[in-house]
Amino acid sequence: MKSRWDDHEAEQFRGDLAQRVYSSRLLGAEAALVMHGGGNTSVKSMVTDLFGEQEPVLYVKGSGWDLETIEAAGFAPCRMKHLLRLAQLAALSDTQMAVELRNSLTDPGAPAPSVEAILHAILPARFVDHTHADAILAVCNTPGGEQRVREIYADRVVIIPYVMPGFKLARLCAQLFPVRATAHTQGMLLLSHGLFTFGETAKIAYERMIELVTRAEEYLAAHQAWTLPSAAAVEPARLGRERQAAVATPRVEIASLRRTVSATSGAPMILAVHGDEASLSFARRPDVGEISQQGPITPDHVIRTKRVPLLGRDVAAYATAYREYFDRHGSATLTMLDPAPRVILDVELGLCTIGRSARDAQIVEDIYRHTMQVIARAVALGGWRALPAQDIFDVEYWDLEQAKLRKSGPAAPFAGEVALVTGAASGIGRACVDALLKRGAAVVGLDVAAAVTTLHRRADYLGLECDLTNEPQIERALDAATRAYGGLDLLILNAGIFPHSAALASLSAQTWRAVMSVNLDANLVLMRLCHPLLKLALRGGRVVAIGSKNVAAPGPGVGAYSASKAALQQLARVAALEWASDGIRVNTLHPDAVFDTGIWTPEVLTARAASYGLSVEQYRQNNLLKVEVASRDVAELAAELCGPLFAKTTGAQIPVDGGSLRVI
Ligand code: ZN
Repeated sequence: MKSRWDDHEAEQFRGDLAQRVYSSRLLGAEAALVMHGGGNTSVKSMVTDLFGEQEPVLYVKGSGWDLETIEAAGFAPCRMKHLLRLAQLAALSDTQMAVELRNSLTDPGAPAPSVEAILHAILPARFVDHTHADAILAVCNTPGGEQRVREIYADRVVIIPYVMPGFKLARLCAQLFPVRATAHTQGMLLLSHGLFTFGETAKIAYERMIELVTRAEEYLAAHQAWTLPSAAAVEPARLGRERQAAVATPRVEIASLRRTVSATSGAPMILAVHGDEASLSFARRPDVGEISQQGPITPDHVIRTKRVPLLGRDVAAYATAYREYFDRHGSATLTMLDPAPRVILDVELGLCTIGRSARDAQIVEDIYRHTMQVIARAVALGGWRALPAQDIFDVEYWDLEQAKLRKSGPAAPFAGEVALVTGAASGIGRACVDALLKRGAAVVGLDVAAAVTTLHRRADYLGLECDLTNEPQIERALDAATRAYGGLDLLILNAGIFPHSAALASLSAQTWRAVMSVNLDANLVLMRLCHPLLKLALRGGRVVAIGSKNVAAPGPGVGAYSASKAALQQLARVAALEWASDGIRVNTLHPDAVFDTGIWTPEVLTARAASYGLSVEQYRQNNLLKVEVASRDVAELAAELCGPLFAKTTGAQIPVDGGSLRVI
């Protein structure tokens, strides 16, 4: 592992806390050290209080902050005296400890101190770094792991047997560390958990971490357990056909799996499929049944991944086993979490990661990719051995871990659901993407314009360039959407074109066909291809078609457009009839004069105003309420149509036009 320390860069960070911020970010940037809120750091410093008195404090990472992006405000200032006295108590419940950590703060507005704060306080050096380094875990999670780390580090680290994080661990370290530390001690290794390093400066503590982890990496390399055999070498030849199947796994199979997982968890879930070589070859290892079913590489991953993945697709059997695990290890005072898996290993699909949001599924993916690598290395070293199930259970149902999950607050209305929006690059489509993301859905945006791919850079958005008049392109887009999020719950049929005004007498067949192919034919293809996916939506599929005022009140010179939207409206009504028994609701919005869309170029606007004998200004507010209708107004209503307010509405035609005499 390479040190990322840069003296020149470090100089910009002046003072203890700033230095602490700098090297914490270096640790956070290395996924093989910490991931997603894992690990923590601290610095001991002096502060002068309001009365001019000096007081020693420990700035320790606050919960909810990530080392990679931490700032000074992410460190909680705890009074050292209070922490050191807590370490001497004979007993303290973890809930009491969390209260006492808060009580130790010099600033009540600071974030809650890390539950490992007391551990940091008892280590004598000023800067303390703590990670869950992959290489350390690969070495110590093996039979004889403790002997191996002794061999690697001799007296450079104090070794602490596994104890659940919290007060008991802090107390054990407070007892063992002073007795076992020597002049050579540079760190403290918690078996099956992670590594602490420390030093008088941020640089010393950080570089000791890198150096000690590198020793573990070299040890793995020396035992032919670092470079993993390539996927092709691991994979038996007979599986060649199955690999092809992974590419061709029908969308409906994936969506069915997501449906079962969602039903088991009691809420819609995002399911991401990763059919890359590394995932497939792990899922196909002959020993996968043994090595994947022992537990996570470090206990706190359990709240993201559950203790073990589901092998294959029998979700019901997984849920039964989970209930047995809960009954065996739990007590009457605990409430069982949902019994659905968060990781699936499947010979055809590879790795599937599951979460209540696309971001959660992505975090599970990151963690499990490291898990597969650490397990494979441990196996190569001599055997993978995780902690006993009870130890993992205790962390999974630890009140302080549960608090982290509860802190996320109530779920957004479309959390775990997947929406597809056509014509997403601009105008109403783009506003629909925003309205759906805001309500917690993962959104797939399709558009013929490449701008759709860069609309948002976030886990819950996938923008795909797609010509909707090309059925194979739609198929490919739906494949990609299903592999990214697991299925489809909401469909917004928005894409449309608006040709130059032309009287019927001069309307060319070419223009007619072009308008029909986008505004009508493409929507039929989309509806046909999406129907099997929408049918599997846990809360029932929802479709919103973006119609037009022209359906009820056509305008002169827009024959093709008006006819295409009228036909789309009929399609939507027939879908409402045919799909009601599948629990799918289909409604249509009829906007008018939404001028912030791609259709309304200044030329079109001028031409349309003229055709009614109005100025552009009059035309813009040419409705009963004298209001301008914006893309956002239409999009918000489209999103609400998919929500609980309209749960009992299907086949509806709703105008969004400021009131039109001709429509009313
Ligand atoms: Zn830890």
